[in-house]
Amino acid sequence: MKKIIVIGAGPAGMMAAIKAAENGADVTILEKMKRPGKKMLITGKGRCNITNAATVPEIIKNIHGNGKFLNSSMRAYDNEDVIYFFESQGVPTKVERGQRVFPVSDKAQDVVDAMVHKLHELDVKIETDSPVSEILAHDGEIKAVKLQSGASFKADAVILCTGGASYPGTGSTGDGYKMAQKLGHTLVDIRPSLVPLETEEDWVKSVQGLSLRNVKATLLVDGEKKTDMFGEMMFTHFGVTGPIILSLSRAATEALANDSFVELELNLKPALAEDVLDARLQRDFAKYQRKQLGNAMVDLLPHKLIEPVLDAAFLEMDKPVHQITVEERHRLGHTLQHLPLTITKARPIAEAIVTAGGISVKEINPKTMESKLVKGLYFAGEVVDVDAYTGGYNLQAAFSMGAAAGNWSVWND
Ligand SMILES: Cc1cc2nc3c(=O)[nH]c(=O)nc-3n(C[C@H](O)[C@H](O)[C@H](O)COP(=O)(O)OP(=O)(O)OC[C@H]3O[C@@H](n4cnc5c(N)ncnc54)[C@H](O)[C@@H]3O)c2cc1C
Repeated sequence: MKKIIVIGAGPAGMMAAIKAAENGADVTILEKMKRPGKKMLITGKGRCNITNAATVPEIIKNIHGNGKFLNSSMRAYDNEDVIYFFESQGVPTKVERGQRVFPVSDKAQDVVDAMVHKLHELDVKIETDSPVSEILAHDGEIKAVKLQSGASFKADAVILCTGGASYPGTGSTGDGYKMAQKLGHTLVDIRPSLVPLETEEDWVKSVQGLSLRNVKATLLVDGEKKTDMFGEMMFTHFGVTGPIILSLSRAATEALANDSFVELELNLKPALAEDVLDARLQRDFAKYQRKQLGNAMVDLLPHKLIEPVLDAAFLEMDKPVHQITVEERHRLGHTLQHLPLTITKARPIAEAIVTAGGISVKEINPKTMESKLVKGLYFAGEVVDVDAYTGGYNLQAAFSMGAAAGNWSVWND
């Protein structure tokens, strides 16, 4: 019986262990936290966006960091397999906006429980409170795994699934990078991906907590439009976050790393053409002609946002509406569709939803997930230099890589 050690009980590690055990291996998971799947429990705001219902090519397009590397593992174990797995474990799923797949119960706990239950059913040993410090190899072949406590476990194969370096409180502190580097693997510089952004503008503090739906954010790098996103965002005490900001953040952090000038332009009324918005402003100004400008904007904007928008348009809150000139109204319309924010930096990697960078995909066989340098060493999940947008793509990537590593760790000689 092949003895397989899986390091890390996140989605990648648990899936790898399930597949290896289904193939008849003697499998042990070593997990440093007290419980498996700590990060999974906070995914999708506690609802766990398990995968995405799009086609595999579409999913791969959304994995902006080395998506093509997943071609083989994702075709072998795709989103339908993931959905089938959870449904057959008693976790029915539903598809929401953007093809995002969630458990019907809206509980990430159910998703983790289903995986743990399957591991128990397959007699996989789960050693919690067991941080691994080193993977031991000899003559280019895996031999054993050493714990921080000094204890060691013999292994015919090791699957390294320690995750990235974000949200360290969940156990992902980047340990796997060091273990792999010690065995000769290359670490592609890690950086935050899917991360909130800090702004120079102080007014964001006054609107912190405000969430905007159906807005468009355009990322400008050195004055040139780079990309845009439509959807939901939120203001915080330091800047901006929320789905569309996180999705733009990878390009923003790359530009910041190149010392470029990075701005966001918010279109608060993206559904309205310029002339339609102007007509709307004229109607509102007619309705509120006896009021001050600040009070005439209540139908158009959330209360908290009125002053920052008027400030950006160089207009006074207390200016009587009937005194607003055509030029001022046009300026206001323009500001509503081009509200500028200067991005100073990204929040630290600890606050990133996903870590970009990781163990170089050039040194990993994409079909089997085996190391090209050390026989019997396999990788899966965020420890690998793969990262995706929000939408369930990151977990799908972890499941596909985990399934490949689990299967091939047993199938390979
Ligand atoms: C707030 C938040 C929300 C998210 N929401 C979603 C979502 O809805 N959908 C989605 O697709 N993705 C989401 N993600 C991303 C997704 O959670 C990760 O990409 C995914 O968990 C990576 O899986 P993994 O198994 O590679 O690593 P992890 O889930 O990080 O698991 C790694 C495991 O290894 C253990 N470990 C680390 N070092 C050691 C060691 N030395 N010894 C033993 N064990 C060790 C850790 O304790 C951990 O349990 C979210 C991430 C965050 C932070």
